[in-house]
Amino acid sequence: MTVRRRGDLTAEEIRERVQAAGLRVTAQRVAVVELLQEARSPLTHAEVVAALAPHGWDRATTYRNLTDMTAAELLQRTDVGDHVWRFELRRAPDVVGHAGMGHPHFVCGDCGEVVCLPLATVRVSGGIGLPKALSGGAVEVQIKGRCDRCR
Ligand SMILES: [Zn+2]
Ligand SMILES: [Zn+2]
Repeated sequence: MTVRRRGDLTAEEIRERVQAAGLRVTAQRVAVVELLQEARSPLTHAEVVAALAPHGWDRATTYRNLTDMTAAELLQRTDVGDHVWRFELRRAPDVVGHAGMGHPHFVCGDCGEVVCLPLATVRVSGGIGLPKALSGGAVEVQIKGRCDRCR
């Protein structure tokens, strides 16, 4: 039994979003979106595979679904510096911002905890002499420090 929070998508809304992104609606894609929505912080491929293990889906199919849904901009993919991709659901515009720019993350340097931050936490804009990626939004922002538990 999943606990639904305000702003969460219903299974029907998830199916609609997968379809609107141009992807075929499959049980696994819906399950992956539900899992990432519930997680509230980015999950690695291994974590998604482990969580969906009871379904008996193989690693390769799960990986392909994660990359397909990232390409379709349903998911956001982040590397917080340990060279492991983490996946999460793209959220409402106030959190996610314009296409191409993901929201910032806080990363604990001690335990590796990753916390999603509202887009408004950091403003990124281009300017003369600055990389063009800034005005295009093709950047990722990470803030490092110690989480509440590690302080
Ligand atoms: Zn920590
Ligand atoms: Zn995030």
